[in-house]
Amino acid sequence: MKVVKFGGSSLANSTQVNKVVNIVKADDQRRFVVVSAPGKRFDGDIKVTDLLIQYAKATLNGDPSDTITGQIIARYEEIATAFQIPQSAFEAIKQTILNLPHHDYQDDSYLMAAFKAHGEKLNAILIAQVLKASGVNAKFLDPKEAGLVVTDSPDDAEIIPTSYDRINEWADSKLVRVIPGFFGYNDQGQICTFSRGGSDITGAIIARGVKAKRYENFTDVDAIYAANPQVVHHPIAIHNMTFREMRELSYAGFSVFHDEALIPAIQGDIQVVVKNTNHPSERGTSITSHKRVNPAYPVSGIASSPNFCGIYIRKYMLDKKRYSQKILKLLAEYDLSYEHMPSGIDDLTVIMRQDQLTPELEDTLIRELVIALRPDEIHISHNYALLMVVGEGMANRTGIMSKATDALARQNVKLIMVNQGASEISMMFGIKQDEAKVAIKALYDTFFPDL
Ligand code: ASP
Repeated sequence: MKVVKFGGSSLANSTQVNKVVNIVKADDQRRFVVVSAPGKRFDGDIKVTDLLIQYAKATLNGDPSDTITGQIIARYEEIATAFQIPQSAFEAIKQTILNLPHHDYQDDSYLMAAFKAHGEKLNAILIAQVLKASGVNAKFLDPKEAGLVVTDSPDDAEIIPTSYDRINEWADSKLVRVIPGFFGYNDQGQICTFSRGGSDITGAIIARGVKAKRYENFTDVDAIYAANPQVVHHPIAIHNMTFREMRELSYAGFSVFHDEALIPAIQGDIQVVVKNTNHPSERGTSITSHKRVNPAYPVSGIASSPNFCGIYIRKYMLDKKRYSQKILKLLAEYDLSYEHMPSGIDDLTVIMRQDQLTPELEDTLIRELVIALRPDEIHISHNYALLMVVGEGMANRTGIMSKATDALARQNVKLIMVNQGASEISMMFGIKQDEAKVAIKALYDTFFPDL
């Protein structure tokens, strides 16, 4: 049996929902349908989740919210009307939206979580009705009833592993179950959401729980491409990739599939297939634990992610005196995470995401580092990009790094950092952000010649 998940653009309006109905009907193995909230209908449109965030903020500030609730209700109404859903069912959805401010929430963060989660919850209720009206024996299943218990973290929850056994009890369900993505309940019964884009995570959790044969993730692209199509003209589609490759590429900005959603799929060894709701007969991208490598193409994908900074620290005998431990302790005190710390005998660079730092926090951090380490030199540089070259075929091959650095050198791309892990399936380059596009093109042309 299969679990299918539809993203926000696949459910943005009744035309899209009609495609979803046809996809569900086309295969009776598709028995668990996980849905996002209605997403963007066109460039510049606002996702229902973002409208709900505005609604939650207005509620917390005591501001009027009639315009926002009107916009949210209209999104569901358009779909309900198109499929002739009974007025009473739509009225219940409308009242739930209007009543959101009138419940008891433990604090503001739980209020925010509950508002956000209703984007998916109400959509799942509606889509179950739509499927029923279209002749599918479908029923809404709330994550609480499904047994999806999560950690007590209102906007960044994680699944509690005992949930899988409870979810498994639904495996033999004869009906098509429509489950809202993006949230679960803590053990107190309060709503906690996953991080943004987290409906993918719900889909993977359900797939692992019911031991599905396949997890089909329907979105708005025909496949995952070897490079960003906005940078490389008509890049080649990756039809088969491994979980490891996908993890590495999503770290560096491949945003088609949520990176956290891979974990339950890996644990359950469930094939994930990314497909396009608009062209469901296209092959898509299959993600599995192993794949056959074509030796002519050792690299599978090239990605880059901007907005990193590097704190450079030089001090005589830096490697001997446990200075790096002091640095990490200080970062933890300020709740800052770091990505890499390439080091030499007397110096190191801490690479971190720069959106964590305000100018004030940056000053404080440098001051504290000066006090703790008395460095000979310290400075921070901004606007780095991390460039990743990923491929199972890179392992046990020689010369890939030299090909990559050669291609970058020919385009005068300056390398600030180089990192290759023991798995050998990825290499990472720190470069200047404004050189990222040139770098991706150069690497693509090198590793995918004639394509
Ligand atoms: N609706 C949520 C978001 O916009 C979750 C999702 O769509 O996956 O982040």
